[in-house]
Amino acid sequence: MSIQLTQDHVFKTYLREGRPFVKGRGSKLYDDQGNVYTDFLAGIAVCNMGHCHPDLTAAICAQAGALLHVSNLFYTRPQAELAKVLTEKSFADRVFFANSGAEANEAAIKLARRFFQAKGEIDRFKIVTMQQSFHGRTMATLSATGQDKIKKGFYPLLDGFAHVPFNDIEALKAVVDDTVCAVMMEPVQGEGGVVPADPEYIKAVRQLCTDTGTLLIFDEIQTGMGRCGTLFAHQSYDVVPDIMTLAKALANGVPIGAMLANKEAAEGFEIGSHGSTFGGTPLATAAALEVVRLISEQGFLASVREKSAYFMAQLNSLKEKHRKVVDVRGKGLLIGMELDISKGKTATEYVSECFKKGFIINAIQDKILRFAPPLIIETAEINQLVATLDSLLAGEDH
Ligand SMILES: *Cc1c(COP(=O)(O)O)cnc(C)c1O
Repeated sequence: MSIQLTQDHVFKTYLREGRPFVKGRGSKLYDDQGNVYTDFLAGIAVCNMGHCHPDLTAAICAQAGALLHVSNLFYTRPQAELAKVLTEKSFADRVFFANSGAEANEAAIKLARRFFQAKGEIDRFKIVTMQQSFHGRTMATLSATGQDKIKKGFYPLLDGFAHVPFNDIEALKAVVDDTVCAVMMEPVQGEGGVVPADPEYIKAVRQLCTDTGTLLIFDEIQTGMGRCGTLFAHQSYDVVPDIMTLAKALANGVPIGAMLANKEAAEGFEIGSHGSTFGGTPLATAAALEVVRLISEQGFLASVREKSAYFMAQLNSLKEKHRKVVDVRGKGLLIGMELDISKGKTATEYVSECFKKGFIINAIQDKILRFAPPLIIETAEINQLVATLDSLLAGEDH
């Protein structure tokens, strides 16, 4: 029934698979016929603590029974405490709350422009982003996104965006001048194919921004909240941005976005500069507070790094065994496996075959398998997926 109703009444903007899901527990999802799936996608890097974590469910229920919403004309404890912990655990001094990734990036873009315009530097409005980047679907974040296929049909987009090749410092140097207010990038490109920034590159970007007084924005919407083995991915590179955006896993599935900035950059906004009706509701921020508490538990991030090393080693052994696998890359539990699709099955076909065998994975550009399991995934579950991939790949060895 849900399938028919969806097909009849919901916009056809998504390709969907399988039966409707009715329940989630940890890294397992259950459909309406009782089939069980092991989730290696976590709702696209959202449910980092797994489905229906009991502590999170309790925090959400308690807050739902106390207070849902009052608007940002008043103070609430969960929003205040979340801002405190996020700033304590990062380079940032201030947080603006939104409801999604695109909105968090929209806030970052607005802050970067207003930062200079408030100082009278009205010609310094350009934002440089990376080719193959993904920053969202609103008009400004679409303008920031470096993938033509996503922009097609929506022209004209916003003025003042330029895109340069990722991991190419000379290309960036060639465009950063005194008309550029910010450089915006993902520490690991997610939708672009799971491509990590080279450590020397990201350090050189920081240096270039510092030397030219340009704001550096890290989009950590997909890479943040422990996904890459540290609370924020940039912490593993030992570089800090001026502005950072978060969303996806911040509240494990309760909609939220956040834009964080250091003290100086935060001066770009004043009373009335920006706003959001729902941004930072008590419900969403109470959920996020619990997520941060769980990720911060002793040993949790170390366990993510251990599982990452194990999973990567297993996937690399598939690469040794099967010519079909051309690359394994990523950071933490955001991992891509690139396939040679010049003959045989595409990545999308692998996704369907895995689904039939009870595993949820994802394909990017039809040639890269993306794995982003809940961070609580177990070694035994990794082994089961790897064995399944091994047998599927063996069918194409010839
Ligand atoms: C998902 C994503 C976004 C957009 O977030 P929405 O909540 O879908 O608006 C932006 N940037 C990155 C890196 C993302 O992965």
